[in-house]
Amino acid sequence: MEILDKVYLAEPVDPYYKKRRENSIIIGISCMPDEYCFCKSLGTDFAMHGFDLFLHELPDGWLVRVGSVRGHEIAWENEELFEELTEEDVKNFREFEEKRANSFKKHLNKKGLEDILDLAYNSPVWKKYEKICLGYGNCNMVCPTCRCYEVCDLWMNAYEAVRVRRYDSCFMESHGLVAGGHNFRPTRLDRFRHRYYCKSYFDPSAGFNCVGCGRCDEFCPARIEHVKVLDEVREGLQ
Ligand code: SF4
Ligand code: SF4
Repeated sequence: MEILDKVYLAEPVDPYYKKRRENSIIIGISCMPDEYCFCKSLGTDFAMHGFDLFLHELPDGWLVRVGSVRGHEIAWENEELFEELTEEDVKNFREFEEKRANSFKKHLNKKGLEDILDLAYNSPVWKKYEKICLGYGNCNMVCPTCRCYEVCDLWMNAYEAVRVRRYDSCFMESHGLVAGGHNFRPTRLDRFRHRYYCKSYFDPSAGFNCVGCGRCDEFCPARIEHVKVLDEVREGLQ
């Protein structure tokens, strides 16, 4: 959400997003990594901020971390749901976190990735994968940080139209199409490669646009693996 905030709350602020964000309460729940997740490699495996409450499962309840004034208010208003933390709770929390930290099966090697992507724009790996990719954007639709949209006017009847914003995918040919008929990314190769560059691994100072959740892998019918693609691009330069 902080990645989306950077886009939608920067000037000019998106009023629709801002309103929903202000009306939201963010409650996180810790989880065990599945076979796709590599969030530890991107440092997003343990939230230090950006939430109101964060729940960590214990054998007999939840350890709750409070992350905002609103979170404090919720805890205060629901005092009867809370008990003092015991040493046993802290021990269980530590054990869970240790187990979780050791359960990641996927790791993204970030070392030098910015330079590698700088040099690998014409890597044959992109060409290999654009042939496998079905190019219809499932990975965009499940990605928590993909945020492209288009604005269109829909005619309701002869006198009325509505202007709507709808989710868009950079895998669609129309995504790079501009007035005059020029297309900035006319081929599937352009579009496949673009998604990886858009995640900003090449510019860590700006912050990655990927949280390492692995959902793009989980929902890819072509079984394309995000980390594997980047590893192959790296290997291709060695
Ligand atoms: S989900 Fe997989 S096959 Fe579909 S567009 Fe994304 S990378 Fe290509
Ligand atoms: S792992 Fe895939 S789905 Fe998850 S944030 Fe990164 S690009 Fe998006």
